[in-house]
Amino acid sequence: MAAADTDVIVVGSGLSGLVAACTALDRGRTVTIVEQEGPHSIGGQAFWSFGGLFLVDSPEQRRLGIDDSLELAWEDWDRSAGFDRDEDVWARRWADAYLDFSHRDLRPWLRELGIRLFPIVGHAERGARTEGGHGNTVPRFHIVWGTGPGIVAPFTRRLRDAVEEGRAHLAFRHRVTELLTEQGRVVGVAGTRLAHDLTVRGEPSSREAVGEFELRAESVVVATGGIGGELDRVRSLWPASLGAAPTTAVRGVPAHVDGSGLDVAAAAGARVVNGDRMWHYTEGIKNWDPIWPEHGIRILPGPSSLWLDHLGRRLPSPNYPGFDTRSTLEHLRSIDAEHSWFVLTQSIVEKEFTLSGSEQNPDLTGRSIAKLAQRVLPGAPAPVQAFLDHGEDFIVARSLTELLDGMERLGANADGTTIDRAAVVAAIQERDDAVADPGSTDPQAIEIRRAREYIGDRLVRTAAPHRILDEAHWPLIAVRLHVLTRKSLGGIQTDLDSRALGADGVPVPGLFAVGEAAGFGGGGVHGYRALEGTFLGGCLHTGLRAGRAA
Ligand SMILES: Cc1cc2nc3c(=O)[nH]c(=O)nc-3n(C[C@H](O)[C@H](O)[C@H](O)COP(=O)(O)OP(=O)(O)OC[C@H]3O[C@@H](n4cnc5c(N)ncnc54)[C@H](O)[C@@H]3O)c2cc1C
Repeated sequence: MAAADTDVIVVGSGLSGLVAACTALDRGRTVTIVEQEGPHSIGGQAFWSFGGLFLVDSPEQRRLGIDDSLELAWEDWDRSAGFDRDEDVWARRWADAYLDFSHRDLRPWLRELGIRLFPIVGHAERGARTEGGHGNTVPRFHIVWGTGPGIVAPFTRRLRDAVEEGRAHLAFRHRVTELLTEQGRVVGVAGTRLAHDLTVRGEPSSREAVGEFELRAESVVVATGGIGGELDRVRSLWPASLGAAPTTAVRGVPAHVDGSGLDVAAAAGARVVNGDRMWHYTEGIKNWDPIWPEHGIRILPGPSSLWLDHLGRRLPSPNYPGFDTRSTLEHLRSIDAEHSWFVLTQSIVEKEFTLSGSEQNPDLTGRSIAKLAQRVLPGAPAPVQAFLDHGEDFIVARSLTELLDGMERLGANADGTTIDRAAVVAAIQERDDAVADPGSTDPQAIEIRRAREYIGDRLVRTAAPHRILDEAHWPLIAVRLHVLTRKSLGGIQTDLDSRALGADGVPVPGLFAVGEAAGFGGGGVHGYRALEGTFLGGCLHTGLRAGRAA
C-alpha cells in the first residue's frame, strides 16, 4: 500500500499513537504512522515507563482489602486537579470519562490484550490523608507485568500484522513540520525526511534533512507527546505559582519529547491550553549510566526517608516521600532550593527505593519470578545497588560525621552555602523521636504506621519503623535530589471524540489529538496534579476514542 492511499495519518509512534492506529485498523481503516525517530524507537516514552496504571476498585485492590469506589476516586481527582479555568470545561468531562474507563473498561480490555497486572497495588501520591495534602486516599497504582514494554507489545504486534496485510504503513525518520489544510479542513501532513541514523533507542538522533514529504488522508491524529525533553521550553512555560524555574533540572524523558507537534497543531488552528501545567518530580537522581543527555531517574520512594531542603531543614507537611508531588515542588521552588536530600538507612533503601523506568526494573520488565523473589532477600535490588555504588548523588556512610561531611561537600549551593549540620542532626532527631513514639502526632510518623496496616506496603514498600540513628539499620545514606522534568499536563484541547478544537471551541475538521499532546484528553484532564498511572492510562483512553472516531 502506498502511504498516500491511507485513511488516517497518525503523527507519532508512542503509546497513544499506536492505540489510535490499532483502533482505527480494527474499524477497517487504513493507517500511516509518521514518526521522526527510527523503527527502534517505537512505543516512545511508554517503552521506558514503569508500567503503572491507575485503576479504580479492581479485583487486585479488593483482594488486598482496599475499599475503593468511583465516588472516592472522583473526590480524590477533583480535589487534586483543582480545576479553576474556563478552558477546564473539556478537562472535567474527560476526567469523568477517564474515571469511568479506569473503573469499568480498562481492566477487561487489558486482559483481552493479554496484559496482566502485578498483584500488589502501590500507593502513589499518598498525601491525600495529610492536612492540605492531595493524592490518592487508597492505593490504586497497578503495575503491568512486563512494565512499559509489556503495554506497548500488543499494539506493535497488531501493527506489524496490519503492515503485512498491506493496511498499515510506517514512515520512520519523517518529521512533521506542517499540517496541510484546504478550506479549513486538515487534509494531511508535510515535513522533512531525516537522514538514516544509527543511534539506539533513547539517544538523541540526528536532524539532518535529506528531503521533504507530503502525505494526505481523511483524518490526522497528532500523537506527538509533551515538552519535558526541552528544558528551555519547560522553563519558558514555568508557572509563577511554582516560583522561579530550576536552573539545574535533570531530564526524565528522551530528547524526542520536544513539543514540536504542539506548534504544528497550533499553526493549523488547534487550541493549545494549560501549557503552564506540568508534572515534574522532586526525587530525580542523575543516571550513573545515562542513555539521553542529563538523564535523570525518578525514585519512587516509600514513606520513611527524612526529606531535607538544600540547607538541611526538614520539609514541612505534607512534603514527605511519595506524598504530594506538586506541593513539594512548590515548597522547594519557593525557597530557591536547586536540590534537596533524602536521609535514610540501609534498611529503608532496601525496602522502599524503587526506581521508575522499565530498564531499572529488569525483574518486572523481564517477567522473571526468580529475579523478583530476590527483592525479598536481604540487600538492595541490583539497580538500586548500582546507584549506591556509582551514583554521584549518593553518600553511604558508617557514621553520622561521615554522612554530614559528605552532604556538606556534595550540597554546595550556588550562593556558597551548604547544609547546616546542626539543622540536619535536629531534623533526624525530630523524625526519629516521632517514629519511635506510637502516640506521636507527626504526620509522617502517622502515615508510616498507617502504611504498615496495608499488607501491600508492609510486604514490599514500607520498612519496619526505626530510628535513622539506630546503628542496627546502617550504613547511613543521603541522596541528593534534583527536579526531574517529565509530563506536560496541558495540550491540545479536544472533545470526547479526541477531535481537536479550534479557538472558537469548534472541532477543526479532520484533526484529532491524543496522549500527552492532548493533555491526555481535553487539554488537561489532570488539572494541576496527577494521581499517577494516569498517563499510560490516558494514552490508552484518548487513543481508543480517537481511533474510533477518526
Ligand atoms: C521513565 C518513565 C517512566 C514512566 N512511568 C509511567 C508510569 O508508570 N505510569 C504512567 O502512567 N506514565 C508513566 N510515564 C509517562 C508515560 O510513559 C508518557 O506520558 C506516555 O507514554 C506518553 O505517550 P505519548 O504517546 O503521548 O507520547 P510519546 O511517547 O512522547 O510519543 C510521541 C512520539 O511522537 C514523535 N514525534 C514528536 N514530534 C514529532 C513530529 N513533529 N513529527 C513526527 N514525529 C514526532 C516522537 O518522536 C515520539 O515517538 C513514564 C515516562 C517515563 C519516561
